[in-house]
Amino acid sequence: MNYQPEKELSLRIVKQAVKLCQRVQQTNGGKAVEKADTSPVTVADFGAQAILCQGLMDAFPDDPVIGEEDATLLQKPELEGVSQQIIEQVQQSIPTATPDKVIDWINWGNGKVAPRYWTLDPIDGTKGFIRGNQYAVALALVEEGEIKLGILGCPAFPREDGGKGVIFLAIRGQGATEIPLEGGNPRKIKVDPSSKFEQLYRIESVESVHSDRRVQTSVDRRLGLTYSAKQMDSLVKYGAIAKGEAHFYTRVPLPQFKNKKENIWDHAAGVIIVEEAGGKVTDLEGKPLDFSLGAKLSNNHGVLATNGTIHSQVLDAIQKEA
Ligand code: AMP
Ligand code: MG
Repeated sequence: MNYQPEKELSLRIVKQAVKLCQRVQQTNGGKAVEKADTSPVTVADFGAQAILCQGLMDAFPDDPVIGEEDATLLQKPELEGVSQQIIEQVQQSIPTATPDKVIDWINWGNGKVAPRYWTLDPIDGTKGFIRGNQYAVALALVEEGEIKLGILGCPAFPREDGGKGVIFLAIRGQGATEIPLEGGNPRKIKVDPSSKFEQLYRIESVESVHSDRRVQTSVDRRLGLTYSAKQMDSLVKYGAIAKGEAHFYTRVPLPQFKNKKENIWDHAAGVIIVEEAGGKVTDLEGKPLDFSLGAKLSNNHGVLATNGTIHSQVLDAIQKEA
């Protein structure tokens, strides 16, 4: 399988979803409403999910899609204005969109894990999006529990040419690539395999509660890191490792979130991009992340992504410090 149809579709819909996010950011600055778990969600999260799901539903109607958002929240009468904006934004991308269709497309993302499924996060790093920092449109294809394709649309990611905006794309067995968002030639990317800890960078979330900083700092000290960690919202952290701009990323649950399990859409696309670039991703016990169980990584504890070379050393340090 070379996954050419899946690749072409993914590139098209991720670019379309990114455009919607950029439009929303320019028009209403990514104003947010609160979800039941108090996390923020914007017109762009819903609009981007509608676009991604519409494309997948049309091209691969038999594949379930597991997305972060759900349109139930939009039934609240006070959110009528938000719904209207979502519909208008989606119509700019898909002129045939009607209010009912947009809701159906968003809810197409309520699928269940199957032998073959897609998972997506229309905006990973919504807080970064609202702040005008890093965020990613993330989409991945999983077959028999193995991630086969992963794509990240990263509109704010800095490029070597001084511009901003890249797409990271990986297909199992075909390597990882970086493509300028506006188009252009894909460039193969590779991790930086160095193991000289004094020259390496750890990368972490901007949000301090998403991983235990006390453990992370002790791990840095134990390994002999000299630079302070780079910080970025969202799955773009995996892209930074895949192209050698950072060397490892840990997600160590804080004691108060000890039983919280990671969402599959917060990792799948990034994991294959790092793996295909030569890196390694496991949980904090060294187990592979299990994408065959449901919307959560329910059989894993935390996450460690590295350039591969240093994986066992970092794992060992975390196990000693956590
Ligand atoms: P990041 O940008 O890496 O900080 O990750 C953003 C993602 O973190 C969001 O998509 C949430 O699903 C997830 N998240 C929210 N709260 C927590 C938490 N307490 N621990 C770990 N991840 C979280
Ligand atoms: Mg997310």
